[in-house]
Amino acid sequence: MKILLRGMTILPMKGETVIEKGEIAVQDGKIMTVGSMGTAPVDFEPDEIIEAAGMVATPGLVNTHTHAAMVLLRGYADDMMLMPWLTEKIWPIEGRLTKDDVYWGSLLACAEMIHSGTTTFADMYFFMNETAQAVKESGMRACLSRGLIGAAPNGEDSLNENIQFIRDWNNQAEGRITCMLGPHAPYTCPPEYLKKVMQAADELGVGLHIHVAESRTEDHDIKKQYGASPVAHLETIGLFERPVLAAHCVHLDEEDINILVKRNVGIAHCPQSNMKLASGIAPVAKLLNAGARVSIGTDGASSNNDLDMIEETRTASLLQKVVEEDPTVLPAHRAAMMTTIGGARALRLEDQIGTLEPEKQADIVLWDWQAAHLNPPHDPFAHLVYAAKGSDAHTVIINGQIVMRDRKVLTLDENEVIKQAKRCAHRLVEGTNNN
Ligand SMILES: [Zn+2]
Repeated sequence: MKILLRGMTILPMKGETVIEKGEIAVQDGKIMTVGSMGTAPVDFEPDEIIEAAGMVATPGLVNTHTHAAMVLLRGYADDMMLMPWLTEKIWPIEGRLTKDDVYWGSLLACAEMIHSGTTTFADMYFFMNETAQAVKESGMRACLSRGLIGAAPNGEDSLNENIQFIRDWNNQAEGRITCMLGPHAPYTCPPEYLKKVMQAADELGVGLHIHVAESRTEDHDIKKQYGASPVAHLETIGLFERPVLAAHCVHLDEEDINILVKRNVGIAHCPQSNMKLASGIAPVAKLLNAGARVSIGTDGASSNNDLDMIEETRTASLLQKVVEEDPTVLPAHRAAMMTTIGGARALRLEDQIGTLEPEKQADIVLWDWQAAHLNPPHDPFAHLVYAAKGSDAHTVIINGQIVMRDRKVLTLDENEVIKQAKRCAHRLVEGTNNN
């Protein structure tokens, strides 16, 4: 399929370049040309022309840490500390999850993400075959891992399940799905278990997705048990000697930051989840200044409570200004880069996505720039980060396929998805003492 988008402002996320009255040609799932009107070859014959005057084109947003199917628990357990929230509310419900729940929950999450301009997400959860199926059907791009609790009785079985999942799904769905192993966290996976996970990752040639240094309790407990911070502990056992995506990284000292930079660890900063669970504030400005691969994630919708990356990016920028007491920290352009090419780099997908340039996969969002809250149109980077809303996403293209046009998702029957997800959510919480 050949598509020509024309007339819009383009933010390619290559430096601070802004192309007014631009044009993007898409062919066979990839971007062919990007530039001013008239850049596409004269013999380019599009199957579809999208007239996009009054819009802004950006690369699709990249959500580097979530648990998609947790949308089923949106608003189920709020205003609690992390550990009681997990042990009293989330884990008991997750013990009742079925494949059917994860399938419909993942589809609901995909619909929400497409509506708010996210084209790629990194997930860690259970019943990953169902999430992969939802990704395949929705047209999204994802980096998927089965969550592994090494200390649980089924630790070995879930590792084998994750290995089989990778064999079945890595590079499937026209290459939109890539896989990782998902050891949950250093406090749920003992070193012996992590070593098995590392060995499997190396044999399969994939990376790891793990929660690291999320709460003060974790920092305290790991130091007490192993005599080192969570990051230093994982460094000691050799975890970072392969591609790692580390979610949160809130409680870090100088040495931890040095390790994360030296090892090129992809960091998923999840400010709203950290704020809501009162986990703390990740030292993002310091990490960026040190050269770390920092990206942005929403975390699951039960600790956020949505998957809106525009809102998350704004929060990331504002929160750093407050904690550093410096309004020049994490300016709009840098935050916009974090949520696009920064996400791609954290997932080791920067050769494929994250910018709008020839030969990259065509993951493109057209934002409707005509609403009152986006006028007058001074600085498009400032508008994207400080004024836009996820719902300003108007048209979304992933891998060269139009998955949303004029705010209507084309790949899913959204009414059916919402109906089924509600059915699953009601069954899950039925009979529980939710007060
Ligand atoms: Zn998480």
